[in-house]
Amino acid sequence: MENDCDVAIVGGSFAGLAAGLMLARGRRRVVVFDEGQTRNRFADAGHGFLGMDGLAPAEMQRRGQADLLAYPTAQIVPQRVTSVTGTQGRFILTARESWTARQVILAHGMRDNLPDIPGLAEGWGQWAMQCPYCHGYEAADQPTGILMTGAAPPHHLTMLRDWTGDLALFCNGYAPDADTRAKANAWGIPVYDPPVVAIRNDGPHRTLLLADGREVARAVLYLVSRSEPSCDLAAQLGCAMEDGPTGPFVSVDMMQQTSVPGLFAAGDLCRPMYGALFAAADGARAGAGAHHALLFAA
Ligand SMILES: Cc1cc2nc3c(=O)[nH]c(=O)nc-3n(C[C@H](O)[C@H](O)[C@H](O)COP(=O)(O)OP(=O)(O)OC[C@H]3O[C@@H](n4cnc5c(N)ncnc54)[C@H](O)[C@@H]3O)c2cc1C
Repeated sequence: MENDCDVAIVGGSFAGLAAGLMLARGRRRVVVFDEGQTRNRFADAGHGFLGMDGLAPAEMQRRGQADLLAYPTAQIVPQRVTSVTGTQGRFILTARESWTARQVILAHGMRDNLPDIPGLAEGWGQWAMQCPYCHGYEAADQPTGILMTGAAPPHHLTMLRDWTGDLALFCNGYAPDADTRAKANAWGIPVYDPPVVAIRNDGPHRTLLLADGREVARAVLYLVSRSEPSCDLAAQLGCAMEDGPTGPFVSVDMMQQTSVPGLFAAGDLCRPMYGALFAAADGARAGAGAHHALLFAA
């Protein structure tokens, strides 16, 4: 059959391409479906990925694609998968056409849901960010804000002290716990309680407009976004989920197998701590796991 493969992978970013590489090196026919919307596409550069530190996200993906396509049994299909049905041995995927696969790896990543503050989304990946390991080095020693997006204690308050001595906490209408307030006081970090109603981009700085009329300038802002799977395929297939600090993620075992036989998951989709290299490592495990399942599953 033309549209048949051993393993179909949904998502062709760090996790999906790494999974594909294992299977292609195992000389299996692997097809990676990808819409090309990697999670870090909003940033100018990606950091912390061995051998590719500082490259543009699109270039990182291009290199991963080139590695995979060097193998004759690998194919990348730039299409969205809208449904997956069936069971181990014969899954049916719907993209623009129908495909069959004996095993499936979900590597479609997560979607960030940012708080609805005018001006914030425009800065995502530029001056508004989530992870100091990713972009903190480049933003070191800058006037930095921490924006609370829920009632959970903001871990950035403690972490970011290794990156800058100029921090301010924006509670954004949430009540920080006593420990957070005590730490902020002890470390001389100003605390702004009111909701942030808008952020104005003033050239090298941003101005946060507070509900009580105050305006506070910061160069960069850290926040924890809520996240959810970027499509509903795991739900369609009935995968068991876990609750993480930023939202639900797919539950997997040591070889990235989900609760559904023959269905694997890799990358941000199945972990509470995000990172491109973590995702690639998951992908490599999922690729090996799916390969083993091809060989050993009943
Ligand atoms: C602004 C920002 C900056 C970041 N910077 C860094 C950094 O510097 N260093 C670092 O290590 N991490 C960084 N991260 C985290 C990093 O982007 C993620 O950990 C990583 O991209 C996860 O890879 P993934 O393969 O799991 O998923 P993703 O990168 O999210 O890729 C999923 C892919 O699946 C595709 N897809 C989704 N649904 C479907 C479907 N139904 N059919 C077909 N394709 C589909 C998407 O289009 C996408 O191409 C950053 C994150 C953000 C938000």
